Amino acid sequence: MSNGCTAASRQTIRRMRVHCVSIPVQAVHSHGSGDVSGVNSVILELVTDGGITGWGEASPWPVFTGTAEACAAALHVHLRPHVLGADPVQVARHMETADRVIVGCPEAKAALETALLDVTGRISGLSVSELLGGRHRNAVPLSFSVANPDFDADLEDIARITGDGVGILKVKTGFAGHGFDRMRLERLRKEFGDALSIRIDYNQGLRATDAIRTLRDLEGFGLTFIEQPVRRHEREALAGITRAIDTPVMADESVFDAREAMEGVSMRLADIFALKIMKSGGLRRALEVAAIARTGGIDVYGGCMFETGVAHAAGAHLMAALPELELGCEFYMSTYYLREDILADPFPVRGGMVHVPDGPGLGVTVDPDRLASCRTRVLE
Ligand SMILES: [Mg+2]
Repeated sequence: MSNGCTAASRQTIRRMRVHCVSIPVQAVHSHGSGDVSGVNSVILELVTDGGITGWGEASPWPVFTGTAEACAAALHVHLRPHVLGADPVQVARHMETADRVIVGCPEAKAALETALLDVTGRISGLSVSELLGGRHRNAVPLSFSVANPDFDADLEDIARITGDGVGILKVKTGFAGHGFDRMRLERLRKEFGDALSIRIDYNQGLRATDAIRTLRDLEGFGLTFIEQPVRRHEREALAGITRAIDTPVMADESVFDAREAMEGVSMRLADIFALKIMKSGGLRRALEVAAIARTGGIDVYGGCMFETGVAHAAGAHLMAALPELELGCEFYMSTYYLREDILADPFPVRGGMVHVPDGPGLGVTVDPDRLASCRTRVLE
């Protein structure tokens, strides 16, 4: 008698290709931790003996998580022997193996888990969010980030993007002095009133010694939250800022994984944790961070790195599976920042919302010609 999962339906991973890509962006973006002038991602392609293809992406940022070179080596050299010949649906077991064979490299692990979930979804007919337990929502409000040292160029972008229905703006602060940050917030409130939810992100750019004084000076702007004002490891300073100011504080660089989330809850490091699959090492690990946050009374938010629509799709499925999500997400790169993407169809952003892709697996497919046009190297 069939139990619905017969031996005949089992597939194994037959081919693994690691595509290194380099994609130009619309403008240089500045942050408290440095400038970004292009996107270097690592795209993972897994193919089963049944002809099913799954995609994943590692989107590193050298000053934040790691390098593209390390991601490519982690996948090509260290994880490949454990992936080829494996049963793709045993995702949890493969990710435990990945944690055992290589320390760190969370973006490479996110790529591997995403591709395994994509394959599993395509075999089973279920979407990645359904594989994570099912959807709480089909769409999430989009946050767009401005980080152009030329603020007039940012204002043009903001006018265009709010015209598309986007109602959330994240202003990258701390890279050109407090006066520049204050001026931009004044202009934005003057031109857009309270219609926009405005958040600011220092990317660790403030000095702990005067962070509280600086942030108190911005509390009158009605900010939804203030993100990562101080350096990643200045945890006592971050907790002190969270206690001292009324505006909610979000930890991004300071909370990567479940262990840091546990510590973050116990020391009330922040009011909000930014979830990113590139920090946690995948979607399931990000759900662990979210569960710890929720247990500790801390909100979560959907962040992204400099990534293509493949990682955006994985992040969108994660957002769908979260029990609570009040602050939106930021999968805007594919629509508004990259000069080109590698997806066959545009990543679904409409009316200021990220729409969680439908269909089996990630619900998006990579266009081979687009992938080839931005590929710098393939490892197989
Ligand atoms: Mg951030």
